[in-house]
Amino acid sequence: MAKNMRMDKNAMPEQPAEVRNKNFLEVALGYTAEQAMDEARRCLSCRNRPCVSGCPVGVDIPGFIAKVAEGDFAGAYEVLSRDTSLPAICGRVCPQETQCEEKCVRALKGESVGIGRLERFVADWKMAQGEEAVRPPVPNGHRVAVIGSGPSGLACAGDLAKKGYEVTIFEALHAAGGVLVYGIPEFRLPKEIVRREIAGLEKLGVKIDTNVVVGKTISVRELMQEEGFEAVFIGSGAGLPKFMHIPGENLKGVFSANEFLTRTNLMRAYELGCPTPVMKAQRVAVVGGGNVAMDAARCAKRLGAKEVYIVYRRSEKELPARAEEVHHAKEEGIIFKLLNNPVRILGDGNFNVIGIECLEMTLGEPDESGRRRPVEKPGSEFVIDVDCVIMAIGTSPNPLIKSTTDGLETASWGGIIADEATGATSIPGVYAGGDAVTGAATVILAMGAGKTAAASIDQYLQGK
Ligand SMILES: Cc1cc2nc3c(=O)[nH]c(=O)nc-3n(C[C@H](O)[C@H](O)[C@H](O)COP(=O)(O)OP(=O)(O)OC[C@H]3O[C@@H](n4cnc5c(N)ncnc54)[C@H](O)[C@@H]3O)c2cc1C
Repeated sequence: MAKNMRMDKNAMPEQPAEVRNKNFLEVALGYTAEQAMDEARRCLSCRNRPCVSGCPVGVDIPGFIAKVAEGDFAGAYEVLSRDTSLPAICGRVCPQETQCEEKCVRALKGESVGIGRLERFVADWKMAQGEEAVRPPVPNGHRVAVIGSGPSGLACAGDLAKKGYEVTIFEALHAAGGVLVYGIPEFRLPKEIVRREIAGLEKLGVKIDTNVVVGKTISVRELMQEEGFEAVFIGSGAGLPKFMHIPGENLKGVFSANEFLTRTNLMRAYELGCPTPVMKAQRVAVVGGGNVAMDAARCAKRLGAKEVYIVYRRSEKELPARAEEVHHAKEEGIIFKLLNNPVRILGDGNFNVIGIECLEMTLGEPDESGRRRPVEKPGSEFVIDVDCVIMAIGTSPNPLIKSTTDGLETASWGGIIADEATGATSIPGVYAGGDAVTGAATVILAMGAGKTAAASIDQYLQGK
């Protein structure tokens, strides 16, 4: 089959920026079958497969793309689903530009193959074929508890259920999905997609028990000693927001991005008539430069803010958010205040936010993270007039499970210590993975950790 040697990717059809910044519908609309096949023919099927080495879970990328090029979408899905259990999600939110696509040889001269866009196409094609009847696996008599229903917990539960384990997921919130439902907005990841993935697990026999806070409702020890679970996977994420500890952070109108996004997404505050309160401010400053900051800024804009600022202390090059999210945010009118660091939030006599005072920064020598250290420019203070400030400067694991589980070793920063190759923790039969172990990372890494732990739990219980 003739290769397509065009230098650029097939563009992704999307809603126009001036329309989408007023609605919560998905921004990117997905390839047609013709666009997908044309894009797939840009893959050179390199013998040494560099893209696969860039994928944290080693998806057979050239294998599934070759099937797309032939128009065999069912075959493409089969190849994909050998290594990933969440392709419709990963195709939408994975940072491909720093993983598989970064390694693509087509990127040496021109743009890489649109691997993420093709993954999304194949997964969406499969979903459009309708739901398949699933035959629940034969039970093997072993019971496993999974704590948390984010990508790590879902992947772990799915792999174990397919092997016949009786799996129950315990989730603190009233809905399953973790960050996929409470953090990432509808316009980037429609919740119907997450719902379908979860429904697929339920068909395999996975039980989901929501509103159960492990560490309060029940402990890890009780799950094992009283409830009869022979192994536990902890995939409780890193949902505890960090603050800057600057004056004014307790004013009315200051939020953590987690709270703001949970109200907006999971509790659907953006829908007309929804009873969930959320601040619909006119001028909003979002502090931070990652995906969470971009999501918060773009939600604030969609909720009606006239001006939304991203305040970030380094330069554009160091922004940790996915390039596509930065690009979309700019198109939607988000104003980037780069090399600026907040020092104080200003309030009026009624304790309402009226502004955020920042200092200009320059970049010095690289710090321990390898990024150039921001250095303050003395006397450069200035104020941005805002009535809402959203802090998106990172999160850490909630200490609840650690503090209620004797013998569970954790690092000084709060992450659970688990063996990278197996997910095993310091307690026999207790495994962990995802953000709870690594700190805030990515969906694909969390999913990979869940799959690794599932394989280890299987070995542990079969050897028992
Ligand atoms: C706003 C936002 C945008 C993001 N965008 C991207 C992106 O574009 N691409 C990307 O790859 N990654 C992105 N990430 C990161 C990614 O979502 C996470 O790395 C991933 O979800 C981690 O998965 P997890 O399963 O470890 O944890 P989570 O998804 O955090 O799920 C943990 C679950 O455990 C539950 N839980 C916690 N404690 C308990 C308890 N004691 N008992 C019971 N349940 C508990 C929580 O309620 C939650 O549902 C984003 C994160 C955020 C917050």
